[in-house]
Amino acid sequence: MSEIRFTAISEALNINNPIIKEKGRRSALFGTHVFNEDRMLQYLTRDALKSVKDAAQSGSKINRKTADQVAEAMKAWAITLGATHYTHWFQPLTGATAEKHDAFFDLLSDGRALEKFEGGQLVQQEPDASSFPSGGIRNTFEARGYTAWDPTSPAFIYGTTLCIPTVFVSYTGEALDNKAPLLRALHAVDEAATAVARYFDKNVSKVHATLGWEQEYFLIDKSLANARPDLMLAGRTLVGHEAAKGQQLDDHYFGVIPLRAISFMKDLELECTRLGIPVKTRHNEVAPNQFEIAPVFEEANLAVDHNLLLMDIMEKVADRHHFKVLFHEKPFAGINGSGKHNNWSLATDTGVNLLSPGSTPMKNLQFLTFFINTIKAVDTYEELLRSSIASASNDHRLGANEAPPAIMSIFVGQQLSDVLDELEGVSQGKLSPEEKTELKLNVVGKIPEILLDNTDRNRTSPFAFTGNKFEIRGVGSRTNCAKPMTVLNAIVAQQLREFKQEVDGLIGKKKLKKDEAVFNVLREYIKASKRIRFDGDGYSPEWEAEAAKRKLSNNKTTPKALQVLTSKKSLGLFASTAVMSEIEVAARLEVELDTYILQTQIEGRVYNELVYNHIIPAAITYQNKLLENVTGLKEIYGAAYSKYTGGLLSIIEQISEHLVDIKKKTDDMTDARKRANKMKDLNKKAFAYCDEIRPFFDSIRYHSDKLEQIVQNDIWPLAKYRELLFIK
Ligand code: ADP
Ligand code: MG
Repeated sequence: MSEIRFTAISEALNINNPIIKEKGRRSALFGTHVFNEDRMLQYLTRDALKSVKDAAQSGSKINRKTADQVAEAMKAWAITLGATHYTHWFQPLTGATAEKHDAFFDLLSDGRALEKFEGGQLVQQEPDASSFPSGGIRNTFEARGYTAWDPTSPAFIYGTTLCIPTVFVSYTGEALDNKAPLLRALHAVDEAATAVARYFDKNVSKVHATLGWEQEYFLIDKSLANARPDLMLAGRTLVGHEAAKGQQLDDHYFGVIPLRAISFMKDLELECTRLGIPVKTRHNEVAPNQFEIAPVFEEANLAVDHNLLLMDIMEKVADRHHFKVLFHEKPFAGINGSGKHNNWSLATDTGVNLLSPGSTPMKNLQFLTFFINTIKAVDTYEELLRSSIASASNDHRLGANEAPPAIMSIFVGQQLSDVLDELEGVSQGKLSPEEKTELKLNVVGKIPEILLDNTDRNRTSPFAFTGNKFEIRGVGSRTNCAKPMTVLNAIVAQQLREFKQEVDGLIGKKKLKKDEAVFNVLREYIKASKRIRFDGDGYSPEWEAEAAKRKLSNNKTTPKALQVLTSKKSLGLFASTAVMSEIEVAARLEVELDTYILQTQIEGRVYNELVYNHIIPAAITYQNKLLENVTGLKEIYGAAYSKYTGGLLSIIEQISEHLVDIKKKTDDMTDARKRANKMKDLNKKAFAYCDEIRPFFDSIRYHSDKLEQIVQNDIWPLAKYRELLFIK
């Protein structure tokens, strides 16, 4: 008896988990493959270390001699861990990461061999970048692109390669990647937020944005996935009837993680730990075979790099475990898709989370300042924020019948709604001593440090305040977080600047005290941004109607959502925050539209292949079997045969009907594609793919799924949902 109990408890406590067994080891392993401060202390001279830290903190230049020293140190360290190559690791606009490996190995002129890596190679490289999308920037300027070291994100060893995080820019200075605009936005928000934070604490000299992402994904058996052209080429199932069991029992969410999946996760966590990605939580998600992994939050630029690296590691580790990991936002019809919540806040170098309510009225005034400014920023630029998470695959969630709607709104919860309502009533101009006391003690002073009702468990809000951070919930699972983070930090930077100007104006001209001025401006912001606040059910048709009345955008498709990028207002924002020039924005729009077209085109082509090479032949094979049967019955029973066919003839007819329709829809779709492909105007072409081609996908799928239900199981050539979705 006692033995049985012991087994059960050891299982429950996961005592046999190798990572847990190596008690304390996970922290010892943390960052072993990262050239972090500990390594630098060990490998660099004090001056070189200071130089790198200054460069990371204030963007100061690193001279050639120091760069050589850092490169030499990195190489020496990397070789001890078995590295043979180095690469500049960057984020082209395609959304993934790119790398080109060069060996440390080199030859001297006298033919002797050695391992070489110098400052020049660390600081700058010229990848053969002509095939990365640049939205015409390189053609326009006949400029080549180069990658430049980002010392704010430490180098790391991945496999046998030393990876150096870099930005990718053209020689004329335009960003050709997602990291450069992000770094500029983070710089802008640092400046603006520091200036405002200093109203409350003069010791603040730097503010950094924090990001904690939550990555959702599906795990599918590799061989089954490889047997389906759609999963292989489009990352999602383009056809496939729902399994008899889906997520209706809610038995997967937080359920016991299947053994195969757990072993993948352990391996993954180990790799992440070595690479300094502080992953912390893992659990099952709502849909079968759907999981989530989330880290402890970090400085936003580092967190973005870590998420990109994580996705790469996941694909490699999945492969070792004979899985294919799906990052597509909607890989399966009829069950939940995957997203990537972006938890965001601002933190000072004095260790304060600016979106965390404090224990004194002054701290809470600071909290309210950043809280209300963020709300105002999102209200002003809601459409731009929506554009930052637009993609062909994310259209299946936003704007379809799935988690968060395409309409941006903000959930703040009851307690804070009440506080905002009270602040809205503050009188204009100078406040009487009584008013001040009332405000400080009974309104601002009463905000609890822990906001209990701020969990918004219904999860329908696309932008929710969750106690000490905001959470952008519409980000796609495949999306590079740099995109929403660039926009969010840029709009908050712009907003905080305006706030500071207004407050300073009131202090200077109207001779208001600082806190009076702050209250006055905040009151106006609360009034002005009311329409964006919504705590109700974001899926309801009533909200859609109400949002339209409030003049909130509701861009359900990517081509539509992207249009706002080049509006006067957006260009003005990007220019004044120095995040992107007009040329860079236009280039981005072009690349995004092009990516949308290409992804939709690939799906269209795969539909052709599926219909002509898989679905039609399978349906005909089965129909022929039925016809053979009918002929046989006729031979034996003559005119009386129909008595013995049961409903057979109707199945034969049904198959024919679906075959006729699916072929017609597929051919019509191909014709529509041909028409669209002739279009010169990229924008028109994207809309054609969206409005004229994509609708065919659903109808083709409809007939295929009907046929799947009719056709004999072993004749159907595509792995079914039932086989794909229930890992054991
Ligand atoms: P949920 O209930 O949405 O699953 P959690 O409360 O577990 O989420 O936290 C989600 C994420 O929020 C975690 O990745 C965590 O690191 C992140 N997070 C917590 N505090 C902050 C912060 N100040 N800034 C950014 N992210 C944060
Ligand atoms: Mg969350």
